Amino acid sequence: MSTLSNTAVLQELAEAVRETKHNGHGQPANAPKYVYLFSEVEQAEELVNGSWDSVRGLLGGKGANLGDMTRLGVPVPPGFTVTTEACNAYLAAGETFPAGLFEQLLDAVGEIEAQTGKKFADPSNPLLVSCRSGAKFSMPGMMDTILNIGLNDEVVVGMIERTGDARFVYDLYRRLVQMFGSVVMNVPDEVFEAVITTQRKQAGVATDAELSASDWQMVTQKFKDIYRTFTGHEFPTTPYEQLKLATEAVFKSWNGRRARDYRNAAGIRHDLGTAVNIQTMVFGNMGDNSATGVAMSRNASTGEPEIEGDFLFNAQGEDVVAGIRLTQPVEDLQQSMPDVYAEFEEIAHKLEVHYRNMQDMEFTIEQGKLWLLQTRDGKRTAQAEVRIAVDMVEEGMITKAEAVKRVKPEQVDFFLHPQLDVMAVKSAQRIAKGLNVSPGAAVGQVAFDADTAEMWAKEQGRKVIMVRPETKPDDVHGMLAAEGILTSRGGRTSHAALVARQFGKPAVVGVGELEIDLESRLMTVGDMVIKEGDYLSLDGTHGTVYMGQIATVVPDFNNPYMLKLLGWADEFRTLGVWANADYPQDAARAREYGAEGIGLCRTEHMFFETHRLPIVQKMIMAKYPNERTQAINDLLPMQRGDFAALFRVMNGRSVIIRLIDPPLHEFLPSHDDLVRELDDLKVQLQHFHTIKEIDVALAEIRQKQDYLERVVALREANPMLGTRGVRLGILLSELTRMQVRAIFEAAIEVTREGVIVKPEIMIPLTAHVNELHVQQTTLEAEAKLVMEEQNMTVPYKFGTMIEIPRAALTADEIAEVAQFFSFGTNDLTQTTFGISRDDAESGFLVEYQQRGILTENPFATIDAKGVGKLMGIATELGRQTRPDLEIGICGEHGGDPKSIALCHKLGLNYVSCSPFRIPIARLAAAHAALA
Ligand code: PEP
Ligand code: MG
Repeated sequence: MSTLSNTAVLQELAEAVRETKHNGHGQPANAPKYVYLFSEVEQAEELVNGSWDSVRGLLGGKGANLGDMTRLGVPVPPGFTVTTEACNAYLAAGETFPAGLFEQLLDAVGEIEAQTGKKFADPSNPLLVSCRSGAKFSMPGMMDTILNIGLNDEVVVGMIERTGDARFVYDLYRRLVQMFGSVVMNVPDEVFEAVITTQRKQAGVATDAELSASDWQMVTQKFKDIYRTFTGHEFPTTPYEQLKLATEAVFKSWNGRRARDYRNAAGIRHDLGTAVNIQTMVFGNMGDNSATGVAMSRNASTGEPEIEGDFLFNAQGEDVVAGIRLTQPVEDLQQSMPDVYAEFEEIAHKLEVHYRNMQDMEFTIEQGKLWLLQTRDGKRTAQAEVRIAVDMVEEGMITKAEAVKRVKPEQVDFFLHPQLDVMAVKSAQRIAKGLNVSPGAAVGQVAFDADTAEMWAKEQGRKVIMVRPETKPDDVHGMLAAEGILTSRGGRTSHAALVARQFGKPAVVGVGELEIDLESRLMTVGDMVIKEGDYLSLDGTHGTVYMGQIATVVPDFNNPYMLKLLGWADEFRTLGVWANADYPQDAARAREYGAEGIGLCRTEHMFFETHRLPIVQKMIMAKYPNERTQAINDLLPMQRGDFAALFRVMNGRSVIIRLIDPPLHEFLPSHDDLVRELDDLKVQLQHFHTIKEIDVALAEIRQKQDYLERVVALREANPMLGTRGVRLGILLSELTRMQVRAIFEAAIEVTREGVIVKPEIMIPLTAHVNELHVQQTTLEAEAKLVMEEQNMTVPYKFGTMIEIPRAALTADEIAEVAQFFSFGTNDLTQTTFGISRDDAESGFLVEYQQRGILTENPFATIDAKGVGKLMGIATELGRQTRPDLEIGICGEHGGDPKSIALCHKLGLNYVSCSPFRIPIARLAAAHAALA
């Protein structure tokens, strides 16, 4: 403790300082100005050349705000702010007040005495103050507060005489001793709380509110005894000493454990220091014409322009927050105190206009007089954010650009997917966390395979959560029938994630702690067992899994405020927003959400449909060429139908159709499943009795054996880098030709219907320009053939994905053949990092992020320095060769706001993302343009 802590010395010093001032002598000549009255905010502003950010840096957010409100003429209890510079000087000097600070403090106390007509330590009209921290950035509850400074035994007697309310005064006094003891002197608060509990027992009452004046008087005395026992000193009775020690405690709390941890977590610098706000106490608990409350200037849930809040008559601020008494809605004040309510409404409006935002205000009414204690921008739901932004533009308070910038892209999600009810989540049992790959809420019964999921949903009308270790193409029917998807393996670009996003199914994947036992039809998380049929709730927005059924909130994309805001976003953005869509119904949804084209149609997804998969498998399993040709021919009308439907929906807009990409084994059952099933079948053979039974089993065994042989033949160490993409297209040129034929036949068919078609054919996984040459030759020949057969020409573009570093680095050569590029950032990330997109995210990438080796998941946000650099090179080289080269992105990053900002910077023409991300991308693209 500093040398000034001795009461007598301090009192003397305080008087001496005042004496000196009266004699016309000031404080040390060159001491900086450490203390600003709330009414001196303009001086602070001048000092930092008008920068409000710097005023906040100097006076802290709360101090700057209190000064600002004072300047606006809002009734704020008089007070002053000790600057963050004073805090830093104090800490730098080894916890010693810098020269001049104490004098300035006393001076300021003198000023508020003059402003209030009250006096420190004057029993007949005492000034009581609070002392609160206030850093530049809000750190709620992280630093210290002491209330009721200025009370001592004499003042208490005087106050009781004035107010006639001994209970009220002793309650204040015990709070001072308690806060001072715990905050300033580190006496454990539990010791104080134990005294109150004992007192309640002795008095035979259940709540603090029922304790009498004499109870609180006794409690105060005991608190003082505790204080002496723990600190070895008497409780300080000089208000100046209380004030000085409290100020020091707030300074020190900047370096307290809580505050440091909070700053580390929130990324706030440690050298900013905190300001200290010293402010006249006002009391909402001085009788029935006193009250205290909190209110928002607009409805924080819906955004409606109406004041919303709670208050309590005859109460202190914390009573409202603590929820021990039933609060009243703030509108009730309209009846009981109409003048005060009218004044409050006027202030709320004034503050909104000033801050150009919805305000969250704390107020106190002391014997009929309204005081504002704090105002800040109010927290609100996504729905309210959108409505308020739009209303404020229409009220002329903010510009359209500000409204657009104010709404975070992710907030748009609220209007697209059901969400778990925030209140219900509070009491829910969270069981696991995984990757949040597809947003929204899903509630349903666990089903462990696609057939069960589909059967329960379709035939029994049950809501289902499909749970699998990972999903494969032949699980898609179950995924479509389910409300949501949960897997224990897989990453952001895993099959489950891609499909879930595409169909807007909430999904959580890569939940490593989930042990799924398909045989016993149950799963475990730690020692918790969840059986098939049990209810789960998924929050795909945050990647959380809850036990049981949680209430959900229904979305509404047609919310007029939302639509208006997105319309404004479109006025600002320069980046196009296209969709990744494989089916006509996806394309229709994408159009509804504002997509301007299709940036990626993954044709292989059309092969995954239940009735098509066997044909695809037949093609793969074919032993003779004519067998394969037959299977491919069977697929042709299906593909043609798909493309025609897509062209119709996208009438007049570009549709990029990518030729087949994934490795063939993805269309067959997994190797491990086949081995297990074969073993089971062989074991069962012994139990069969009739020839017929044995014949059936043998046939099944032979079929599985065939599959297994083919799967083994197709097996590669890392199939995502093997025979897939253009390589597959070159090897299976018949398939390429079929797909091209389907595209052109469809295009001609719909053109005849009057639809405008703009097909763009895209080659996946190109690494070398020669691969494109080969595919171009095949494609042109087939296209020409179809056009001649049909006697009609359809203009089209031929382009490629850029998803292999070599393609990016040789983009100038590639652009000689390709008329457009689309960055496949899923594969480009995989191949640039050498990290498998299938399993890294539930493996070491998690640890990498935890340890800060990578700050972000490169599969979620483009790695700007590596992958982004390759994109920049490819864009530049490509446009050197072909200045009008159309360049887009269709990897999952196309729907990620940060990645969208990078695409804008790189000068791409469009981003393409799943239909459900379109509105988010529109807003993010506007943000990028406005940045
Ligand atoms: C990509 O790699 O980014 C891409 C869009 O293709 P796919 O995810 O289908 O490999
Ligand atoms: Mg790819």
